[in-house]
Amino acid sequence: MSEKMLTFVKIEQQNPNKRKVKTRIEDFKEVYDQFISQRAKEQSSRCSQCGVPFCQIHCPLHNNIPDWLKLTAEGRLQEANDLAHSTNNMPEICGRICPQDRLCEGNCVIEQSGHGTVTIGSVEKYITDTAWDKGWIKPIKILREKDQSVGIVGSGPAGLACAEELRKSGYKVTIYDRYDRPGGLLIYGIPNFKLEKFVVQRRTNLLKESGIIFKQNIEVGRDITLEDLKKKHDAVLIATGVYKAREINLPGHNLKNVFPAMKFLIASNRKGLGDKVQEFDNGTLNAQNKDIVVIGGGDTAMDCVRTAVRQNAKSVKCLYRRDKENMPGSAREVFNAEEEGVEFIWLSSPIKFIGSDKIAAVTVQKMKLGKPDSSGRRTPEPIPNSDFEIKADLAIKALGFDPEDLQKLFNHSELSISKWGTIKINLTSMETNIPGVFAAGDIVRGASLVVWAIRDGRDAALAIKKYLEQKKINKIKAA
Ligand SMILES: Cc1cc2nc3c(=O)[nH]c(=O)nc-3n(C[C@H](O)[C@H](O)[C@H](O)COP(=O)(O)OP(=O)(O)OC[C@H]3O[C@@H](n4cnc5c(N)ncnc54)[C@H](O)[C@@H]3O)c2cc1C
Ligand code: SF4
Repeated sequence: MSEKMLTFVKIEQQNPNKRKVKTRIEDFKEVYDQFISQRAKEQSSRCSQCGVPFCQIHCPLHNNIPDWLKLTAEGRLQEANDLAHSTNNMPEICGRICPQDRLCEGNCVIEQSGHGTVTIGSVEKYITDTAWDKGWIKPIKILREKDQSVGIVGSGPAGLACAEELRKSGYKVTIYDRYDRPGGLLIYGIPNFKLEKFVVQRRTNLLKESGIIFKQNIEVGRDITLEDLKKKHDAVLIATGVYKAREINLPGHNLKNVFPAMKFLIASNRKGLGDKVQEFDNGTLNAQNKDIVVIGGGDTAMDCVRTAVRQNAKSVKCLYRRDKENMPGSAREVFNAEEEGVEFIWLSSPIKFIGSDKIAAVTVQKMKLGKPDSSGRRTPEPIPNSDFEIKADLAIKALGFDPEDLQKLFNHSELSISKWGTIKINLTSMETNIPGVFAAGDIVRGASLVVWAIRDGRDAALAIKKYLEQKKINKIKAA
């Protein structure tokens, strides 16, 4: 513990009630900042600067991790921040919510040798948060705006990263989004306790100050067509994410208080943003004092159980049809949820929602793992006569997401779609089968990660720049 921290603790012990609360908060922040800064330096200096940076290879953005760790260890934070931003449009967001155990940190050489990973994500967060605090992060200033413009559909991480890269090159950029706030799942999907909303808003405000135009509450397909966008802009990017919730149509699925995960999470996020949310305020979408059952084993299910805990639920149970080892979600998230008191009922599957008007219980069947399927995962099989009931005031279905019917949504039957409903692109040019229309993020990959959406957005920006330059050359030649 540092000298300052020891003094602080001593003062607190001697005069617990005498000092003003404001001063205590300020003192605490100073001590806390000092602690975080010390920890970041310690962690950074643990990096062995090994010859083969596996962390960098396994980061989807190939962030120059060893170099920014070295700069942090030397106290050269401004340079570390510049380096972090050279490959990533939102390092403070990735530092908070990347599943590092599966990416950079999981491949750290020190972790592999059994000595515990360098906490890369938290150092990345520290570098960028410090840069924001110190005012080092500034809006883009362009010397001469180009006369070509790009329309981007969707303001999630893929759309935002592409917009920023194009703006840096001087293009006019307009983002259209059907939500009232920009950010996509960063703002309305991922809960506040994992990603504070001011962190997202700080980024989107910066992009507005950089001259990117945001048009909210505009649904492409309903309020404006893809054809309109093609006429209005020189190129279009579709980055609309995946939003069709996977269903389980069990008996009783129409009972009140059985909700899809996004409905529950959006209500909670809106509340955190200070909105008036009637269904939350009247208790319908609020887990307080209720027995909650969440169905699913992915990261969205983990976000739901952990949100319910924070809303002071009476009990929170999670049903998953496979065992812990075969869960799709991050092991770290399961560990966190267990620590917070969530009860996992492994090898269990709901077969009926029970209740007269509202849900009162879920009938659950026990499962066992059978032979591996074509993907190599063992298939869950029901155990006959193993049913049991669990009490539920609120059931949340978190079984994953598929793309919406885009041909119908955009009223564009020619748009080429894969058998999974995602948009087909040329992987080199990132262009769809419609000339001048590109696509990136979850709508191409299927439900994935923020860091991959950023990567796709950056790649799309490069491809769009190439396309626009060629378009300009063709125009000059034709003149
Ligand atoms: C609950 C939840 C938690 C998650 N947690 C994590 C996590 O901890 N870490 C992580 O890395 N990833 C996480 N993810 C995944 C991550 O959020 C996504 O992979 C990422 O946001 C995809 O980015 P995107 O830009 O492709 O799409 P999105 O973020 O989904 O953004 C798409 C945008 O397009 C808009 N849009 C859609 N259709 C239209 C239309 N027709 N017209 C206009 N606008 C439209 C939407 O309103 C939205 O704003 C989570 C996902 C969920 C659902
Ligand atoms: S972007 Fe994600 S994977 Fe890459 S270094 Fe940061 S936390 Fe690790």
